[in-house]
Amino acid sequence: MDFQSNVFTLNTVDGVSFLTYDRLSVIPFIRHAFSTKRGEGTRTVHPMDMSFDHDDREAVTENYRMFCKAAGYDYRSLVASSQDHHTFVRVVTSAENGIGIYREKDIMSVDGLVTIEPGVTLCTYYADCTPLFFVDSRTHAIGLAHAGWRGTVGRIAEKVIDAMRDSFGTDPADLICAVGPNISVCCYEVDKACADEFYALGLNSDQFVFPKDDGKFMVDMLECNRQILISCGVKPENITVSDVCTKHNSDLLWSHRATAGDRGTMCAMLRINAE
Ligand SMILES: [Zn+2]
Repeated sequence: MDFQSNVFTLNTVDGVSFLTYDRLSVIPFIRHAFSTKRGEGTRTVHPMDMSFDHDDREAVTENYRMFCKAAGYDYRSLVASSQDHHTFVRVVTSAENGIGIYREKDIMSVDGLVTIEPGVTLCTYYADCTPLFFVDSRTHAIGLAHAGWRGTVGRIAEKVIDAMRDSFGTDPADLICAVGPNISVCCYEVDKACADEFYALGLNSDQFVFPKDDGKFMVDMLECNRQILISCGVKPENITVSDVCTKHNSDLLWSHRATAGDRGTMCAMLRINAE
């Protein structure tokens, strides 16, 4: 399937492909990227696998080096989260550089990372779940979070904003946010127990939970996270939402559901540029 999007650019550098949001690319003080499965010379079982959990450690490390070189990051500056579908957010600095990549994970259960230190590269992983990018246009602080359905209904978006407010004085009205790419409403079917958690959020759920005739539900996690961001004070015009479904674009992106779990993992990266 040819890649089509009104919000992303598909970049290819040195044989490594990655997505960037046009809306975030114009912000001069940050750099961001979302990896794909395309990378020439990758030695992992699943091409461009960015998860140390599923593949050979040395080969995944090489993928990170390849990706960083292509997308313009310093490999030594990476700080990864220990994602397990909770909603804990960690404030990181250069003291944490390498954690989860070339240093051991020192704490478990962190799905969101925030920083205000230039040069520190936040890194989170995906294979259908929703990445959330946060950029404070006033303080220049940033945040990056992994929102699966549990993180979404756990309002991790709000937890990240709370952490940025507490640590950096962020006003949500100054935030520029991007949501996705993820498995979108076209492909994300859930059972009633899961749908009920989305209904329980107390938002305009008729815009993101859609009952089907067979008793299942289609859920739009992009719209749900967008509404949570707005409920926190983020301006609607400052939120960009993905138009690329991971499952529909499984020739380019890893999708847990498209592969029945036999897959690699993608990463999102976000950093404040050093002057
Ligand atoms: Zn789809």
